[in-house]
Amino acid sequence: MSQVRRQPAVLPRPNWGWQDAAACRGEDLLLFFGPDGERQPEREIREHKAKEICAACPVRVECLNYAVSRPEKYGTWGGLNEEERAAERRRRMRRANAA
Ligand code: SF4
Repeated sequence: MSQVRRQPAVLPRPNWGWQDAAACRGEDLLLFFGPDGERQPEREIREHKAKEICAACPVRVECLNYAVSRPEKYGTWGGLNEEERAAERRRRMRRANAA
């Protein structure tokens, strides 16, 4: 008789501990997630301010890894906007496929 391994009833939750040290804690969310219909140059100015905060963030790498590994479509995460994150995601996939 084969043995059936019991699976945990709940999948492990992602580790959100890095968020405790996030430099964006307490900042206006609109700085990282722009309003609907936002145009240039307002978007570029807003993203620049968000990226300045990210540049000094002690958990930037963890934040970026989280956002790139999930379908986080919107906002600035780890110092990258949506398009930059999509490019980073493709770059990582190419690198993984080449390995
Ligand atoms: S990298 Fe930017 S978005 Fe991510 S936690 Fe740090 S400040 Fe927030």
